[in-house]
Amino acid sequence: MLTEKETSRARKTRSTRQILGVDDHADPIYERILTAVMEHRLVPGTRLVEEKLASVFKTNRTRIRKVLARLTHEGIVTTIPNRGAFVASPSVQDARHIFEARRILEPALIRTLVVRANPDDFRRLHAHVAKERAARDKGDKHAVIRLSGEFHLLIAEMVASPPLTRLMRELASLTCLIILLFDSPNVPACPNHEHTEIIELMQKGDLDAAIAAAVGHLDHIEATLDLSLPEDAEVDLSAIFG
Ligand SMILES: [Zn+2]
Repeated sequence: MLTEKETSRARKTRSTRQILGVDDHADPIYERILTAVMEHRLVPGTRLVEEKLASVFKTNRTRIRKVLARLTHEGIVTTIPNRGAFVASPSVQDARHIFEARRILEPALIRTLVVRANPDDFRRLHAHVAKERAARDKGDKHAVIRLSGEFHLLIAEMVASPPLTRLMRELASLTCLIILLFDSPNVPACPNHEHTEIIELMQKGDLDAAIAAAVGHLDHIEATLDLSLPEDAEVDLSAIFG
């Protein structure tokens, strides 16, 4: 039985977690839509119809509306009055801003992680790159793109700061949309060897070189962007999620 003080503390902790968006990550509908965006199965400009999603996910429209509101807040979905919700189509300028934000955030994450990482963290990072390599070898393009984004998220998660993890999550999801919109089709996602290089430099404790490699990696991804416009495509929501 909790005392009144403990109950109040528990309530306070819970609401802080909610403010940071930690609990919401558990919503499987949110996760599945985000994964579909990260894997390029849901492309920019796709209309997200509430009734259809409610029927595909066998839930009510209120719950779908809540998930869409969260994705809108994160910039992954754009809501147009009287027209509905669409997967966002970041502009070239949005893309530049997102890379700019990542060049500020990621060196800070690496700086923190180098100080506190243990051998197990490095083992997990190398294991993640091995998964990326396996997906690439299998030719599983969807998984390669998602796993590439998740490498950067894993670094943020190891830093264990919920606001920074949330920020990295948003930036990584938006980067996936940008890669789909602007990347040349033959250069999907992050090159594996650059991820390995970043890990090894962190492992050596060479902070300056690790940060230079991480910034160079972002510059490299940004340099592959081109300005061709995406093609219009009809998307069958029930085929993606059904
Ligand atoms: Zn990368």
